[in-house]
Amino acid sequence: MGRRDFRVLVIDDSPGLRREVLALLDRVDFVAEAREASNGLEGFKKAVESPPDLILCDLIMPSVDGFKFLTLVRSRPELRDVPVIILTGEADVDTKIRGLELGASDYVTKPFDAGELLARIKVQLKIKALQDALKTSNDRLRVLSSTDPLTGLYNRRHFMGVLEREFERTDRYGTPLSFVMFDIDHFKRLNDTFGHQAGDDVLRELGRVVREAVRASDVAGRYGGEEFCVLLPHTEVEGAAEFARRLRLTVENHPFPAQGETLRVTASFGVAACPSAAVQRAQDLIGVADEALYQAKSEGRNRVVVRKP
Ligand code: GH3
Ligand code: MG
Ligand code: MG
Repeated sequence: MGRRDFRVLVIDDSPGLRREVLALLDRVDFVAEAREASNGLEGFKKAVESPPDLILCDLIMPSVDGFKFLTLVRSRPELRDVPVIILTGEADVDTKIRGLELGASDYVTKPFDAGELLARIKVQLKIKALQDALKTSNDRLRVLSSTDPLTGLYNRRHFMGVLEREFERTDRYGTPLSFVMFDIDHFKRLNDTFGHQAGDDVLRELGRVVREAVRASDVAGRYGGEEFCVLLPHTEVEGAAEFARRLRLTVENHPFPAQGETLRVTASFGVAACPSAAVQRAQDLIGVADEALYQAKSEGRNRVVVRKP
């Protein structure tokens, strides 16, 4: 606190009270912006338009009062965590309790004491800042725990979760789902010749190539060491085969910078799709694609083998 970076919304039907509160907020250095609204509906619209860090809200107002406002605010994901301090008349213990039960963070009794109001505002803003920081770090952890650090693609565990969910959807609604598995050809030889670091450089670059090749709705993952997979929801087998052929060609023509050298690699692809009699579980989709990939290897590598459903 101390920097002018908090935004506050003041909702009260009394212009005098709004003026008083805004004048107070104007004098403190941690409030960047204070907006006002004269009833719950106007306040709600302003909050949705641009979510503040804190809301001060009167309870008794015409039409949309503080209680309705709290209900509205708590139903919106983007506003759910914004602290609301309610401004109430002195004797209204029941309304204070009801306000707190509806999700208010605190209350201040009118006529308010400026020092108390500021102290309570600071407490709520501090909690909000801590919650925001926690949320950011949780989001970062979630990304880290689902990402393969070398390639930036989803790791196997996360990919399998997505595969299970997409398979269930296909199973229930019959929407097509395709799966492509591919594996770098003679990667052991590349490692042996140029070193493990060069091998890692190739994997990293291939991650980039794959990310650029897929559509936003496709899910790309690193399945194992030098095995990758792409899940294509709402895609028939022909579409997935086309994608695999295009990616095979891209990889073949792509210069891979590795430890100061420029390396060439190829990959072999297996394509599977469902609904299919051969695919009863999500795991079967991997099994069928893996078989196709094995066939691509045995037929000479750098090719795509498609198993029609
Ligand atoms: P094939 O054409 O049949 O796929 O032959 P291959 O040599 O690519 O296949 P194999 O499965 O025998 O070898 C895979 C190699 O990939 C062996 C392993 O050391 C290497 N590898 C697996 N993970 C990594 C990794 O993270 N970094 C590097 N540099 N190499 C890896
Ligand atoms: Mg290989
Ligand atoms: Mg392999």
